[in-house]
Amino acid sequence: MNLSTKILIALGLGIIAGLQLGAEGAAFAKAWIGPLGTIFMNLIKMVIVPLVFSSLVMGVCGLGDVRKLGRVGLKTVALYLITTAFAIALGIAFGVLVEPGAGLNMSTEGLKVTAKAAPPIMKVIIDIFPTNPLGAMVKANMLQIILFALFVGVGIVAVGEKAEALKNTIDGLAEVCYKMVAIIMSFAPFGVFGLITPVVAANGPAVLLPLLKVIICVYVGCLLHAIIVYGALVATLGKMSPMEFFKGVAPASLLAFSSCSSSGTLPLTMDCMRKMGVSQNISSFVLPLGATINMDGTALYQGVCALFVAQIYGVELTGAQYITIMLTGTLASIGTAGVPGAGFIMLTMILTALGLPLEGSALIAGIDRILDMPRTSVNVTGDAAVTVVVDRSETKEEPLY
Ligand code: ASP
Repeated sequence: MNLSTKILIALGLGIIAGLQLGAEGAAFAKAWIGPLGTIFMNLIKMVIVPLVFSSLVMGVCGLGDVRKLGRVGLKTVALYLITTAFAIALGIAFGVLVEPGAGLNMSTEGLKVTAKAAPPIMKVIIDIFPTNPLGAMVKANMLQIILFALFVGVGIVAVGEKAEALKNTIDGLAEVCYKMVAIIMSFAPFGVFGLITPVVAANGPAVLLPLLKVIICVYVGCLLHAIIVYGALVATLGKMSPMEFFKGVAPASLLAFSSCSSSGTLPLTMDCMRKMGVSQNISSFVLPLGATINMDGTALYQGVCALFVAQIYGVELTGAQYITIMLTGTLASIGTAGVPGAGFIMLTMILTALGLPLEGSALIAGIDRILDMPRTSVNVTGDAAVTVVVDRSETKEEPLY
């Protein structure tokens, strides 16, 4: 039985166990079953920093020259932005058509949320440049690690022979990290079971029903976005059968679904890409960047939720406000960290930009974990789809592997 099947079975068993335990068993599930998931995620996170650093340095060395790096970077960012804009438009379309907030009359009294202010754009740019690379690694600041690794890679290529020993060492580190991921992944079914059971136990049908329309919009929207946008992308530009793509990336998509962390899933996403024959030079650059800045599922969710809040307060949005959702939604998803619940915090930024009451998002807070699962899964699948496309466009010009 392959790993995806085992993970899928574990997911199913976790849902059954969670429903059986129900609200009364939620504390038990959290205390005794949850740790399986926490330990598993800790193990995965343990390899993220050395893995991203070493494989990205090797990726730059493999690319060979800075011009090529710039070209790959440009293509990657462009594809990430286009798919994100598409996702948020789909979210808005669902919000308009389904009207998830229509007829909802829930009291928001006593529920308080504080807004997250949008950081100034210059600060965001400055923060990408680390003053202390070790500090960046200790904090697992992905963008700073990416930047440092790019510099080390370019330095190694420029120095040439004298840096050969360093290059081999980093190559060895990368190989050891890949092996560690493979070993850790054999425990994935247990980890997934431990992650999903407490969530289902705590969020039984009673919690979900009142906001069923929002949940349906986000789930169906995510599914459609993945099938249509990623299916078309990999089939046309990636020259790969969509079935083959979705099957190959399934372990990562499923882990993202149960862990709600695209950063946490990164080592596995890299592993899946490698098994699918995608060049490591490309995936080691495109994937960590995607786990940090590309959040299509989050953007879609933000579109649906912004409309939901407008609807429950009876606010008619203007054309300009829809454009505001598109722009702030795209920016917010770029700024969203790949950790559980980060998208919800960024949602408050969009509501503030639209002048909508923040209390509206307090309703979403109760079901956010349930919405986090499909959106994280789409975030990760989107990174993988773009990686396949960028890889194909580069390898067509000159084979890298
Ligand atoms: N949990 C998401 C992720 O890690 C981010 C979000 O909350 O939207 O990709």
